Amino acid sequence: MTQYEIAVIPGDGIGTEVIDAALAVLKECESRYGIQLNYTFHDFSADLYRRTGKRITAADMDEIGKLDAVLFGAMGLPDVRGTEGLELGAQVEMRAHYGLFASLRPVQLFPGVESPVKAKDVDMLVIRETSEGMFAGLSDVHEPSDEAASDRMTITRATCEKLFDVAFSQARERRRRGTPGHVTLLHKSNALRSNVLMEKVFDEVAAKNNDVGSGKYYVDAGSMYMVTDPERYDVVVTENIFGDIVSEIAAGLVGGLGVAPSADVSLTHGVFQPSHGSAPDIAGKGIANPTAMILSAAMMLEWLGERREDELCTKTAQNIQSAVKAALAAGPQARDLGGTAGTQEVVDAILKNLPA
Ligand code: NAD
Ligand code: MN
Repeated sequence: MTQYEIAVIPGDGIGTEVIDAALAVLKECESRYGIQLNYTFHDFSADLYRRTGKRITAADMDEIGKLDAVLFGAMGLPDVRGTEGLELGAQVEMRAHYGLFASLRPVQLFPGVESPVKAKDVDMLVIRETSEGMFAGLSDVHEPSDEAASDRMTITRATCEKLFDVAFSQARERRRRGTPGHVTLLHKSNALRSNVLMEKVFDEVAAKNNDVGSGKYYVDAGSMYMVTDPERYDVVVTENIFGDIVSEIAAGLVGGLGVAPSADVSLTHGVFQPSHGSAPDIAGKGIANPTAMILSAAMMLEWLGERREDELCTKTAQNIQSAVKAALAAGPQARDLGGTAGTQEVVDAILKNLPA
């Protein structure tokens, strides 16, 4: 039987609470289904930085990168800033260090969850590019100034080709599970040179994958459709900052960040974390919705299962997903979904619904 070595980084705020919740579900899966996970815990957080000045280093990331996957809670506190006035975020540094170019953010309206829009069949995968785009200049040499500051959007052919390959293969995979199997590019090629290149490479990759339907919208109009007619989307792919924003609009359609998981992947590494942050406004109260984190843990098992051709791992991921779905339908609901359940009650409901 395959054993997996998992690096766990709980981080700040509700990151630690939702990690505990996910580990409780994984522990039950180990005894129930026989998967084997070994954990190493790593304390990197904005809180630790504030107290000790310690932050994640390249050497730490090299060590962690030897393991099979990273399970990440959330990191960052709005008032803890490094040099240059930016927040600390090991998740951002890991994206650069491991070359994690694609953040897969599935968004699905589950029975039992009320959407703020009329559409009932919201089921899409937003793929946010995470290694370049509007975040390309993060490590540029920078002269601090009170008068002007700029960031840089860079798009490269090599990253676009890898990203769009992932988008089309994800669409094909989703089609097997009953979605239309279609890819939409959101871009701004009418006004940004970098996006002219992005659109060109998209057209090339789409032509090579013409068994899968594809389309394009300017990101502004496409964002409106996301709200007025989300059913037109299956796989949505876009650059870094557009994807950051659009994926959270999409999450809002299906109940919000509390149910929005993500997988940041390259062809070799994976960091699995909820789409949300450390939520200082609700931290320490035991009321964070752990669903997004638990679904992210399921995405980790799905990814490991596919890479290692480990059916037990794949099946365990599906069992967690179906338990989450059943728990959402039956309740009790977490507070962000309009209910009164705390973190532990949501975990209990998911555990209760795990298939035998
Ligand atoms: P946030 O995602 O932490 O919170 C946004 C809102 O959603 C808040 O009202 C919060 O209470 C709510 N929310 C988020 N997750 C929830 C959950 N699981 N259950 C119930 N409600 C939930 O975003 P923010 O407030 O803009 O940022 C807070 C901190 O997190 C900042 O320091 C930010 O930089 C950091 N952050 C980290 C990550 C990451 O680790 N990947 C991502 C985004 C933000
Ligand atoms: Mn975000």
